[in-house]
Amino acid sequence: MGACAKGAQYVLALNRKNVMSKKHALIALLSLLLCVGGCVGRINTQNLVKASANLYQSASITDAQLISMSVQLRNKEDRQYQVAPPNSPYTKRLNKLMARLQSVNGIPLTYKVYMTKAINANAAANGSVRVFSGLMDIMTDDELRFVIGHEIGHVANGHVKKRLRTAYLTAAARSAAGIYSPAGTITNSALGSIAEAFINSQYSQSQELEADAYGLKFLRDNGYNLQAAVSCMGKLKGSGGFFSTHPSSKERIQKLQKQINEFSSKKHF
Ligand SMILES: [Zn+2]
Repeated sequence: MGACAKGAQYVLALNRKNVMSKKHALIALLSLLLCVGGCVGRINTQNLVKASANLYQSASITDAQLISMSVQLRNKEDRQYQVAPPNSPYTKRLNKLMARLQSVNGIPLTYKVYMTKAINANAAANGSVRVFSGLMDIMTDDELRFVIGHEIGHVANGHVKKRLRTAYLTAAARSAAGIYSPAGTITNSALGSIAEAFINSQYSQSQELEADAYGLKFLRDNGYNLQAAVSCMGKLKGSGGFFSTHPSSKERIQKLQKQINEFSSKKHF
C-alpha cells in the first residue's frame, strides 16, 4: 500500500506544479502499476493501464479543459432541471438583481433560474450561474444578491476550478474505462462520476470566508443593504441544499458582521 500511495502522491504533486516531464510521469505510472500489482494480487491489467492512463492525463489537465468540462457539466444539469423561460418573472427578477455583475475574471456571467422548490444556487467555472426558484421565494433582493455574489466569489477566487480538478482526479482514478470519447469530449459515464465526486466534496472554511468577502464587497460597491449578508444566513440554516455544500458557522457570521461594521464606520468619514 505504501508504494501505491507514494505513486499517487507523486502524480498529484506533479499536477500541482504543472511541470510533468515524460520521464517522471513514466516513473509515477510504473510505481502505481507495480504497487497495485503487488497489493491486490489478481488484477485486470488492461483496466489498470487505462486507469493509470486516466491519471496521467488528468495530472496535466489545463484550465481550458476544466472550462470545457464545466460547460459539459452545466449542459447536463440544465437538462435535469426545468429552466425558467426569459419572460418568466423569476428570470426577469434575477437579471434585474444582478445587472451590475456581468463578468468575473473576464468571463461573461450568464444567469438562469431552475424552477424547483429546492433552496440552492451555484456558479460554474464557465461563468454560468443558476439560482433555484425555491431560494428566490424566501430571500429579499439584497439577500439573494449576497448569496449569488458568494457563489461568484468561488469562481473569482479559483475555488470552483480547484474543486473540479480534484473531482476529475477522483473520477479518473476510479474509472477503468476511458474518460474521453474519440471526439475529445468527456464520456457521459465519466461526466456522471465527476459530477458525483464534485457534489460529494466541499469548499474549505477559508474558501467560504473568501467567497463571503466577495459577496459582501459586491453589496458594498453597489450601495446595497450590507445587513442582508447576515440575515440570509438565518434563512438558509437547516434548508438542506445550499448548506449541505456550504456549512454555516458562527465564525462566518461573526466575520461578516465585523466587516459590515468596518464598512459602515468608514462611510461616516
Ligand atoms: Zn460557498
